[in-house]
Amino acid sequence: MALEITDTIILKSFPYGETSKIARCYTRDFGKVSLIGKGVRKGKTLRSGYLEPLNHLSLSFYKNPRRELQIFSKAEFKNILSALKGDVKKITYGFAIVELVDKGVTGEEPHEELFDLLVDTLNAINSATGNINVIFWYFEMKFLSLLGFRPNLSTCPDCEGILDGAVFSHERGELVCSNCLINGERKVSSRTITFLKTLKHGSVIDAINLKLKPGDRSEIGGFLDRYLRHHIDTIRNIKSLKIMERVLA
Ligand SMILES: [Zn+2]
Repeated sequence: MALEITDTIILKSFPYGETSKIARCYTRDFGKVSLIGKGVRKGKTLRSGYLEPLNHLSLSFYKNPRRELQIFSKAEFKNILSALKGDVKKITYGFAIVELVDKGVTGEEPHEELFDLLVDTLNAINSATGNINVIFWYFEMKFLSLLGFRPNLSTCPDCEGILDGAVFSHERGELVCSNCLINGERKVSSRTITFLKTLKHGSVIDAINLKLKPGDRSEIGGFLDRYLRHHIDTIRNIKSLKIMERVLA
């Protein structure tokens, strides 16, 4: 059993027994790791506080590849996201993001770019003064791309014409031009396609600076939601997203 140290975001945790806690973590070097903090809820120490969702830690743990549950040793905070944790809207988006990672990422391979995206997005939400839903869409778009589901926003898959306004095909889970899908389902305007391209190719700052009108929000959010659910079937029922719809309605 080796003592490992790695950069970590806590995805979820729950009490175990009288004094312990189990946490699922997304680590930079080992991907998803489940671990038990034995006795961390005992006495008045602060050790239990490390294993809370959305914490960004330098985590030390004992790793045994033959076990599913690794053993927590100690931790230090890398960054305290106090603005995020003190704001209902921000923390709701934060929970939706860690739930997407928890449900959407399978297997234990590390993915450094995905880890960095997670950290950068939580930091951006922490310091944001507005447009938090756009930061969330930025995360969704980059998350899809990193998992191999980068949406095609340029050409129609049927006629290879340029997508200047399109229709979302529920059957195929992608955008098709309105000539090829006449009785189309959800329309996506050329304006929305331009915004989606910024989310796909731009930085989080580019995303925050998008100038959106109310109608844009439902088209962008609707497209990403449908696309994500079509391509990553493990996230069909994201609890935090449902809570978010209620809290932010
Ligand atoms: Zn077409």
